[in-house]
Amino acid sequence: MGGSSDTVNDAPTGSTSNSGTDFIREKVKSDMAAGRFGGRVQTRFPPEPNGYPHIGHAKAICLNFAVAAEFGGVCKLRFDDTNPETEDANFVDAIEDDIRWLGFEPSGEVVYASDYFEQLSAWAVDLIEAGLAYVDDQDAETISLNRGSFTEVGTDSPWRDRSAADNLDLFARMRSGEFAEGTRVLRARIDMAHENMQMRDPVLYRIRHAHHYRTGDSWHIYPTYDWAHGQSDAIEGVTHSLCTLEFDTHRQLYDWCLEHLDLPGDKPEQSEFARLNLTHTVTSKRKLRALVDGHLVDGWDDPRMPTLRAMRRRGYPPEAIRGFCSAIGVARVNGTHEIELLESFVRTHHNTNALRRMAVLNPLEVVIDNWPEGQVVELDAINNPEDESAGTRKVPFSGRLFIERDDFMIDPPKKFFRLAPGREVRLRAGFFITCTDYVTDADGEVVQLKCTYDPATQGGQAPDGRKVKATLHWVSAEHAVDASVALYRRLFTDSHPGADGGDPLDSVNPDSRSVLEGCKLEPVLADTPAGEVVQFERLGYFAHDLDQPDLWHRTVGLRDEWANIQKRQAKGANQAKG
Ligand code: ATP
Ligand code: MG
Repeated sequence: MGGSSDTVNDAPTGSTSNSGTDFIREKVKSDMAAGRFGGRVQTRFPPEPNGYPHIGHAKAICLNFAVAAEFGGVCKLRFDDTNPETEDANFVDAIEDDIRWLGFEPSGEVVYASDYFEQLSAWAVDLIEAGLAYVDDQDAETISLNRGSFTEVGTDSPWRDRSAADNLDLFARMRSGEFAEGTRVLRARIDMAHENMQMRDPVLYRIRHAHHYRTGDSWHIYPTYDWAHGQSDAIEGVTHSLCTLEFDTHRQLYDWCLEHLDLPGDKPEQSEFARLNLTHTVTSKRKLRALVDGHLVDGWDDPRMPTLRAMRRRGYPPEAIRGFCSAIGVARVNGTHEIELLESFVRTHHNTNALRRMAVLNPLEVVIDNWPEGQVVELDAINNPEDESAGTRKVPFSGRLFIERDDFMIDPPKKFFRLAPGREVRLRAGFFITCTDYVTDADGEVVQLKCTYDPATQGGQAPDGRKVKATLHWVSAEHAVDASVALYRRLFTDSHPGADGGDPLDSVNPDSRSVLEGCKLEPVLADTPAGEVVQFERLGYFAHDLDQPDLWHRTVGLRDEWANIQKRQAKGANQAKG
């Protein structure tokens, strides 16, 4: 993957759009000004349908769709489906679904590299006829060995000078399925001593007797990435073919192929940008698959995964992912972004939009001794202090409540201002209560608090002006909804998993999830739609599971860890200056 271990931290906090420019947009702008491509802009997102899109793909999706939109162009979704063994129609549907969820609509029909197989093979025949491609009978290992190295030139294949007629005959027979896999390939005939290793007679076609999810059993040869990609771009009329940095050495080959073909229109141009890497995250499909296959997570949509469907389940809004991708920008050098920055976009979004609710994760029973027997009062609670239009809701209050277990201490230290024997606190949207006594079980564990309430404090103020130092969240015991709540920590303990050359999976965090059972939620939460994110007051943002109504996932906590990182960095920079 070639990501450096330096962390890139040049993005502003909280901003959701970046009107700035970058080398790609500058290039598109100058091409348009010069009238190149007839002033047209066309990009594409070219996923291989062999896995689910992740946060790295989100960067490529945002870039391709945004550049097209900003310059009045089009962006197509093209499935780069040239590998029959690993591809699957389920991934096709999932990728389309994820792109739409992220907020983008592919221009026109969705297209497939496999639709171009006939044209690609006709072009291969053209190359053979022009003496620019040949069938090689060497096996893969020999071919690889004979490519040479950065310091040594390659060795010509003994089959390099086959006649065009022989090559045409053999290529046709490869296509019709006559030969076994691995016995022959079609190679471009460029230069085995080329300084760019990619140009040393690269393989264009391999024999595969495999079933393809779209073309069935009609093909026995499949084009390589290098042979399919640029030509697919050209067929569609792509102008700017944006791909990640690891393809920069392929650009020369991309251009070579296009130069030697009789193309319908302009030659597209490839530009490379840095892959997205995130701390505590892997963005290699192969490694993500290993997590799933090794049951280290529950599946591709497990909320700990960096896939878009996992983030959706976790409660990451598409706006936040787009805002993040826009803020980090596009650069030409690989780097790693802090996961806290992504989380800060998620938090900022929910802080503005999420409804406030009360939920008790570790319940401790509170009995209000002076509460009128059987009475229930419907209190008004504010839905979102950041958004007046969100209004208020009713929350039932009764003589038996739950509060958070760690909001009470028998013998509190100096800085603990919450509930303790003899102490008065405010209940959010409710009354002041005073703890008069507590009940313990045989192990000395507190199992119930006895309290009194002050009827004059409804709404949270005492008429005599007396103050309390803490406000607690709570739920009424008889009205509470039971739920399970999943809390998450980093999936990888290492901030740069695998950067030391080891297996990234070695740093998988065995404690990345804890599920709390028997949590108590305020009643309106039972009616919250699947997938909605609310703020559990004082606890963080939580997403209602997409399938299981009694399960919630912690999306992000309340504390702005990104701001803390920035403060630390500013301090470090100042110290370095001083
Ligand atoms: P592989 O090809 O190894 O299966 P991939 O992650 O490259 O994995 P593709 O489906 O080929 O998967 O990717 C589709 C597009 O997304 C490509 O253009 C690729 O360059 C881009 N992309 C993939 N990973 C990232 C990333 N981490 N950051 C930015 N763009 C990415
Ligand atoms: Mg790829």
